[in-house]
Amino acid sequence: MTSAPGAAPTRNCVSCGRAISWDANVCPYCGHDYRMAMAGPAAQKKESAMPVIGGILILLVSLGYLAGGAFVAVAGGSFFWFDMGVSGLAVVCGMVLLVLGLIVLLGGIFAIQRKHFGLALVAGIMAIPSLLGIIGLILVIVSKDEFR
Ligand SMILES: [Zn+2]
Repeated sequence: MTSAPGAAPTRNCVSCGRAISWDANVCPYCGHDYRMAMAGPAAQKKESAMPVIGGILILLVSLGYLAGGAFVAVAGGSFFWFDMGVSGLAVVCGMVLLVLGLIVLLGGIFAIQRKHFGLALVAGIMAIPSLLGIIGLILVIVSKDEFR
């Protein structure tokens, strides 16, 4: 900023480089509008669609976990009269998958909301068995700064 003592403070227009009034909304020389530039990026920070896309991918993986877990648990349960050992194991595996699915589901929702990066990260890591989960995890890590 270069201004003579007593004179109104000036700044150089980012568009044309000429000195304009410090609080000018529009450059009188080239018409560059500073109101848009101020309100736009400042108001909504830097938000990309990456956490949302990543979160949706992680959500899809969680649905796979939930569906798989439910299937294994129900299928295992239906074998109960046939072989209790196999049936019990399948039901436990199904339950574990369901719990995993719920945690991943929660993390995916957090990623979409750009909240709780740690939980979104854990969900992404747990979603790694699926290619969608790997992509989701990468998107979440890349957009770490957007999380609150
Ligand atoms: Zn200008």
